[in-house]
Amino acid sequence: MRATIMHGAGDVRIENVADATLVDPTDALVRVTRACICGSDLWPYRSMEASETGQSMGHEAVGVVEAVGDSVSKIKVGDLVIMPFAYSDGSCEFCHDGLQTACVHGGFFGSAGVNGAQAEALRIPFADGTLYALPGEMDEALMPSLLTLADVMGTGHHAAHIAQVSPGNAVAVIGDGAVGLCGVIAAKRLGAEQIIIMGRHPGRTALAQEFGATEVVSERGDEAVERVRSLTGGFGAHAVLECVGTEQAIETATAIARSGGAVGRVGVPHYPAVPPEQTFYKNVTVGGGPAPVRAYIDELLPDVLEGRIQPGRVFDRLIGLDEVPEGYRAMDQREALKVMIEP
Ligand SMILES: [Zn+2]
Repeated sequence: MRATIMHGAGDVRIENVADATLVDPTDALVRVTRACICGSDLWPYRSMEASETGQSMGHEAVGVVEAVGDSVSKIKVGDLVIMPFAYSDGSCEFCHDGLQTACVHGGFFGSAGVNGAQAEALRIPFADGTLYALPGEMDEALMPSLLTLADVMGTGHHAAHIAQVSPGNAVAVIGDGAVGLCGVIAAKRLGAEQIIIMGRHPGRTALAQEFGATEVVSERGDEAVERVRSLTGGFGAHAVLECVGTEQAIETATAIARSGGAVGRVGVPHYPAVPPEQTFYKNVTVGGGPAPVRAYIDELLPDVLEGRIQPGRVFDRLIGLDEVPEGYRAMDQREALKVMIEP
């Protein structure tokens, strides 16, 4: 079968690899019908050291179950499933608490030697805990939005949830990538009254406004902090969604949070520390991490199925597997917002 293998910075190849198979009795085999490229895939795309064996890529998918192991009881052959970016056993105390990304037997697809989803098929560990079976046939038009429940929509929701977005709040969203845009959707869904999108790509901030953003701040650094303060009566935002992960992003996030406010961070941190003083003296809570998107599907799926939210609009390019290297290049150059793959 064909799969995406990254061999180093800027070096993504489509290769023939051994067919995915069942290994453990708790596994399922999924034929991928939709996958995508994530903003977080761009970190290794920019920095990975050259490797002959390479790394299998991709951690978001919708697909059809082709086979299940003997111990799998809930997931059935033929099910249309969402594959969250983390696998989880569904039975440990963290899974019971809805923090599947901390599962004691869990891990992430497309990292540390685990197979990735930018491929024709893949093996799913702990199928009953990991996969979410969709209720029946799904309209093709819903596929992009269903695919976002594997990562970006659940991650944007996690940022909003951790930032304690509540009805009537002023919310600032840092980052106009797919997660930031889904964060706007999540903030509106949770009743935010004012939603400030912080980004400088005109097409993306325009989409954020269609999703519910009320203001756009394209400045960065001190100017951005000033603008957000002036837009929020001088005090800053109740809730800040940090969806980038750079040092400037976390500094801005803590600077624009009002006293007693909260920052939900979901950008993979590429900074040494959360600024200690301005969070301490303002009593600002900072939380977040890898989103337990598996836990959020129950809550978000009805809104997708009934058309109340359309997070699938973040996809602006559809490609086949052969075009995946070009898809990485286009996302890296910010020519494409988020690339969907139909293997
Ligand atoms: Zn678990």
